[in-house]
Amino acid sequence: MKLLSIVTLAALAASAPAANAAVNVMASTEDLADLTRQVGGDKVKVESIARGYQDPHFVEAKPSFILKLAKADLLVVVGRELEIGWLPPLIQQSRNAKIQPGAEGYLDASLTAKILEIPTGQITRAMGDVHPLGNPHYWLEPGNGRKIAQAIRDKFSQLSPGNASYFAQRYSDFDARLAAAEKRWDATLAPFKGAKLVTFHRSWPNFMERWGLDVIGYVEPKPGIPPTPQHTLEVIDAMKREGAKLIVVEPYFDLKTPQSIATQVGGKVMVLAPSVGGTKEATDYIALFEYDVNQLAAAFKQLGGK
Ligand SMILES: [Zn+2]
Repeated sequence: MKLLSIVTLAALAASAPAANAAVNVMASTEDLADLTRQVGGDKVKVESIARGYQDPHFVEAKPSFILKLAKADLLVVVGRELEIGWLPPLIQQSRNAKIQPGAEGYLDASLTAKILEIPTGQITRAMGDVHPLGNPHYWLEPGNGRKIAQAIRDKFSQLSPGNASYFAQRYSDFDARLAAAEKRWDATLAPFKGAKLVTFHRSWPNFMERWGLDVIGYVEPKPGIPPTPQHTLEVIDAMKREGAKLIVVEPYFDLKTPQSIATQVGGKVMVLAPSVGGTKEATDYIALFEYDVNQLAAAFKQLGGK
């Protein structure tokens, strides 16, 4: 009996990473990499593929990532087809069975998050709509950040059970810091509840819903489709009609159309960070919201409340 348990323990030790070997993680985006770091601390090594200043729908699939994916114990992805244009061939060519979709080392962070704009009826990417499975920018809401961090904690505990209490403690510290920050952000944005604005891409539904801000239109006619003169006129009309003055643009889009709209409506263009690394201030998940919330509040204040 005693011998059997020693043999069983030895077999477990051989299959699981050594207690002090760091779990090797690749994350598709810097947001997921940071949440991984928050929970994993020094028990994990993590790197992201997309940079926060890049359009996450269109990332260059550099071959150097194949080698990194080949060595990964875990791959964390945004899912909802955000990465469909660049990640699947990298995963496939890594030939790493651990991180293939459906394997233990593949974590789709969208599975436990609150997803908005899920299309009803036939799902299609016709006309270039890059959000066929609901809005994939769901990390831009602290409640979802918390859910992603929980999913990462649970996955780490599964992959490295000896460190489960360490991950639980790290998660709980992050949760407390996030909750304190949320109180601050709620207070900062409370005066602007109901304020109307336009965004370039549909990156912000979770964010805007969280703080009661009203997106009345998009510079893109559809997610992934560049502005057209006809649609731009419609946006200008809508902004004039509704009294919206602010146009939020992600860092990777051309400012020409937003600026011409702003001129027409007497408004303002503002670049916000949709991801960690999207601006130099957005150094981690909490700093990302700190920056965006303060920028938005300052803009609404300057433009005269609502
Ligand atoms: Zn998108």
